[in-house]
Amino acid sequence: MRYSLSYPIKLLVYCASAESRYLLSAYAKHPHLSIQFADSETDALTKLSDESIDLFAILDSPEHALMPDTDAYRVFLDLPYPTILLWHQIALLQGLPLLEAGFSDFFSLEGANQEGFIRCLRMLLQMQHKNQEIQFLRDADPLTRCFNRIAFQRDLNEKLGDIQRRGGVLALVSVDVDHFRHFNQRLGSTLGDQVIRLTCHRIMMNVLDHPVYRLNADEFAIIVVQPNSESMKTELHKLITGMTRSLNTPFHVNGEDHILSTSIGVAVAPHFTRNPDELLNQVNQARQKAKGQHGCTYSVYAPTLRPNPILDNLQESDLWSALKFDQLALHYQPRICLKTGDIVGVEALMRWNHPEHGLIMPDDFIPLSERTGLIVPMGFWALQQVGRDIHTLNAEGLSLGKVGVNLSFRQFQNDYLAKTIQRILTRDQIDTAQIEFELTESSLFSNDEHVKHSIDALSQTGIAFSLDDFGTGYSSFSLLKKLPVNTLKIDRSFITDLPGNSDACEIVKAVIHLAHNLNMAVIAEGVETQEQRDFLIENGCDQAQGFYYSPPVSLPRIISLLDSPVSALL
Ligand code: C2E
Ligand code: CA
Ligand code: CA
Repeated sequence: MRYSLSYPIKLLVYCASAESRYLLSAYAKHPHLSIQFADSETDALTKLSDESIDLFAILDSPEHALMPDTDAYRVFLDLPYPTILLWHQIALLQGLPLLEAGFSDFFSLEGANQEGFIRCLRMLLQMQHKNQEIQFLRDADPLTRCFNRIAFQRDLNEKLGDIQRRGGVLALVSVDVDHFRHFNQRLGSTLGDQVIRLTCHRIMMNVLDHPVYRLNADEFAIIVVQPNSESMKTELHKLITGMTRSLNTPFHVNGEDHILSTSIGVAVAPHFTRNPDELLNQVNQARQKAKGQHGCTYSVYAPTLRPNPILDNLQESDLWSALKFDQLALHYQPRICLKTGDIVGVEALMRWNHPEHGLIMPDDFIPLSERTGLIVPMGFWALQQVGRDIHTLNAEGLSLGKVGVNLSFRQFQNDYLAKTIQRILTRDQIDTAQIEFELTESSLFSNDEHVKHSIDALSQTGIAFSLDDFGTGYSSFSLLKKLPVNTLKIDRSFITDLPGNSDACEIVKAVIHLAHNLNMAVIAEGVETQEQRDFLIENGCDQAQGFYYSPPVSLPRIISLLDSPVSALL
C-alpha cells in the first residue's frame, strides 16, 4: 500500500493563549499548510476526532520562562497522532527531554524559515504513513490480506479489556473449512490457496463492519462487539445467515465446482468467561459441535444445564453411534378424520433405543442433535425409513394415508434436502400424495433465502406441508397466506384446556375458522379426552391426533390398527 501526501497538510494547533498565535502568522498563508486552532483541551480533542486532521501541535505560551511541563500534555501524547511542540525558542538540549517524553519533534518558531517548518511537518507525516504501512504489513496475512494471528491476539485482549471497562458484549466467531487438508492434497496447494482466498473474501463480504483474522491455514476468526445482548443476537443472526449462505455456494476453481463444508463456532463474552484463552477454548468446542455435518453449520457455546443425570452426559458421539449402530426407530401415531372416524394419516415420530438407557424420547435428544447439526443426517435417516416403510406397505396393498414427517429448520440449511427427498421418492416409488412435511412456524417464517429456496424446491415436488405446533410461534396470518401450507396443526397446549377454559375455546374456534377461510385443513394435536373430541367435532375441526385414540406405536402395531374400527383404538 502506498500513501501519497495530500496538500495542504492540515495542522491542528492547541494554543491556550490567543496572543501566542502571532508566532504562527508567518505560516498561515502557505499553500501547503492549513492551520486550525483549538483553545482548550476539549476543543482540541473534539477537533482531533475529525479524521481530516493530519498533524497535531502544541504551541506553548512564550511567556513561560521555563520549558513547558510535558505532563500537562500527557492526554495528547497518548494519542496516535505525531505531536510537535512549538515554542518561541527551544535549544537542542532543552528539546531532547521532550522527545523522551513522547513528542515527535519540537520546533523553534522565532527566526525559523517557512520552508524548514513545512519540511519538518512533511517529514513527520511521511514517517507516520510509513509506520502505518509497517503496522499494516505486520498485521496482515500475506495470502488473504485479512488480519493475522498476531493482530488477533492483540485485538482480542484489547477488546475484552474494553468491554470489561465500558460494558458491552463480545462474540468470537470462528470459521473452519472442514477437511481442507484433503482438498489441498488432492488439488495442490496453489488451488488450495485460491480456495482460502475465496473463502476469506466471502467471509469479509458478510462481515463488513468487523475485523476478520486468519488464525491457521483454514481457520478464520471474527470479533464482533455490540452494546448489549439484544443487538448482538440481531448482528450474529445477520452475519451467520449471510456467511452460511455464501459459504454454501460452490467454489468455482480450476474449471470445476467444489462444495466445501465449513463449521462455525460462536462464543460470547462476558457470559461464560472474560478470559481470552477460555473464550478460544469455548469457541473451539462450539465449532467442533458444528463439524461433521455436510454444508455450512454453526453452533453457539453454552454450558450444559440439563437436570436429568442420565442424559446429562449425552454426547454428540452417542448420537453418532445411534445412527451408526441403527439404534433409531420410527413410531407412528394415527390421525383420525373427525367426520368419519377413519385413520386418514399418521405422524412419524423418532425414538432412540439406547443400549444402556432404554427408549429415549425425542425431547431428550432432538435439541442436542439440532445444536450439533446431527439432526440433518438423523432427519435423512427418518426420511429413508419412512420411504422404506411406505414401500413395504405399498407392496402389501396397505396404506397409512398421508405420513407426516417432521423436518427441522436445520435440514433446510442443507443443500441436499430437496435432492435427497426426490431420490427417496423415486427409489421407493412413493407417490408425493403419501407424504406430508411438518414444519414449525419459526422455520417457515425465516427470512433466510436458503430456507425459501428449499421450501420452493420441495413444494415443486408436489409434497404438502403442514404447520406444526400452531399458536406457539409467530402466527403471522398475512405470511400464512403466502406459504405453501395445506394444514394447520393446533398445538397441544390449546387442546389441553378444552372445553373448560373459555380463552382456549375461543382461540381454537378462531383458528379453525381462519384455516378454513384460507382453504386449509385443521388438525388438533394432543387430544386426550372425549370432551375435547366432542368440542372439536362441534366446531368443525377436520382431524385429531392424541392419546385418546392412540399413542405413537411401532409399525406392526399401526398396521394392525389400520383394519380396526376407531372404537377398537379406544
Ligand atoms: P411434535 O411434532 O409436536 O409431535 C407430537 C408430540 O406429541 C409427540 O411427542 C407425541 O408423542 C406427543 N403426543 C401426541 N399425542 C399426545 C397426547 O395426547 N398427549 C400428550 N401429552 N402428548 C401427545 P414425541 O414423540 O415425544 O416427539 C416430541 C417432538 O420431537 C415432536 O413434537 C417433534 O418436534 C420432535 N420429533 C419427533 N420426531 C422427529 C423427527 O423425526 N424429526 C424432527 N426434526 N423432529 C422430531
Ligand atoms: Ca409434528
Ligand atoms: Ca406438534
